[in-house]
Amino acid sequence: MVDPKHPQKPDTKIITGGRRKALTGAVVNPPVWRASTHLYDDVAALDAGDKTNEDGRFFYGRRGAPTQWSLAEALTELEPDAHGTMLYPSGVAAIAGALLSVLQPGDVLLMSDNAYDPSRSFAQGFLKRWGVETRFFDPLIGAGISELFCDRTRAILMESPGSLTFEVSDIPAICAAAKGHKGAREIVTLLDNTWATPYFFTALDKGVDMAILAATKYVVGHSDVMAGAVTTTKRHWQALRATAQTLGQVLSPDDAYLAARGLRTMAVRLKAHEASALDIAHWLTTRPEVADVLHPALPSCPGHEFWKRDFAGSSGLFSFVIKGDWNKAASFVDALELFGIGYSWGGFESLAVPKRPEKYRSATQWTCDGTVIRLQIGLEDVGDLKADLEHGFAVFAA
Ligand SMILES: *Cc1c(COP(=O)(O)O)cnc(C)c1O
Repeated sequence: MVDPKHPQKPDTKIITGGRRKALTGAVVNPPVWRASTHLYDDVAALDAGDKTNEDGRFFYGRRGAPTQWSLAEALTELEPDAHGTMLYPSGVAAIAGALLSVLQPGDVLLMSDNAYDPSRSFAQGFLKRWGVETRFFDPLIGAGISELFCDRTRAILMESPGSLTFEVSDIPAICAAAKGHKGAREIVTLLDNTWATPYFFTALDKGVDMAILAATKYVVGHSDVMAGAVTTTKRHWQALRATAQTLGQVLSPDDAYLAARGLRTMAVRLKAHEASALDIAHWLTTRPEVADVLHPALPSCPGHEFWKRDFAGSSGLFSFVIKGDWNKAASFVDALELFGIGYSWGGFESLAVPKRPEKYRSATQWTCDGTVIRLQIGLEDVGDLKADLEHGFAVFAA
């Protein structure tokens, strides 16, 4: 039995979560439960089936089966104060599903200016057509966000750190301001927590109402599955669930299986990503070719004090500014052999991509002395990775 005075540590919860025998059976990993149709004992059971809209009861494939329920339960257990988790076929679907569950035409959405580009596009395209206005805010705004509130403000989407430029927001202050607002409707706070995961940042106990994960990244961890998740409190659960079901969102059982398998090693992987990324980030600060290193654990990072106060660690994704234009930066990236050139991150392999953050800003301006290169530090030997970067710098200098 779990002693309430000794709550399980996150490393243990990652192993035990969602593995109730009553749910998944007597095997370590829940089987891949492939089904559209579930059979009922009789017509009375069929008739009763759709009335209890809960996990743990078979209804139809779109509402999942033990493979998905187990993963959802495991993610819920990683967030103290959480009531449930909805799964989605991608991180972007999770962001859209969460926003659509709280917004309606006429509402105003506040979005952090460092948010992931597809989050911005969803707001500026779909939500705009749907009658929702989005206003962007400085990620370092903190409690000052209350000055942006109006009668129509309904939700705040944060991303901390921003997954391109890595500013860390004062999440507790922003959430407290939202809770303190006395408008006609409450303001719901949503956080894209993909960078930290609940292992390094538990969101709901800091005041966040909905914690969003692109599970594609660290949960899956092997660059082979797209998946998303939203974990929320009891208050917002029914709306989140109803919206996902109305939109027909379902994560396939095969992908749920792989995501759950990835999750079991997430703690050890994150610690390895963290150590190598910190090593390389510190090393980059000593390089003459580098103008700046954007890593939340470095004191020079905007919002570093909030990272230090609120986070249990740092993951493997950060950026640096190379002293050169786009073409010079491209020559550096092209020269790398261990670092792949590609989107996404959170897998076991290292990646490098040059980026143009100034294209995705409206409330703030992005300027730097060179070109931003984003690195995902994988699980390779850190000396080998440095040697590869060193080779890139030699080509860059030539
Ligand atoms: C990748 C990513 C997403 C989207 O996830 P997909 O599974 O690729 O749709 C959302 N937010 C952040 C911060 C990401 O890096």
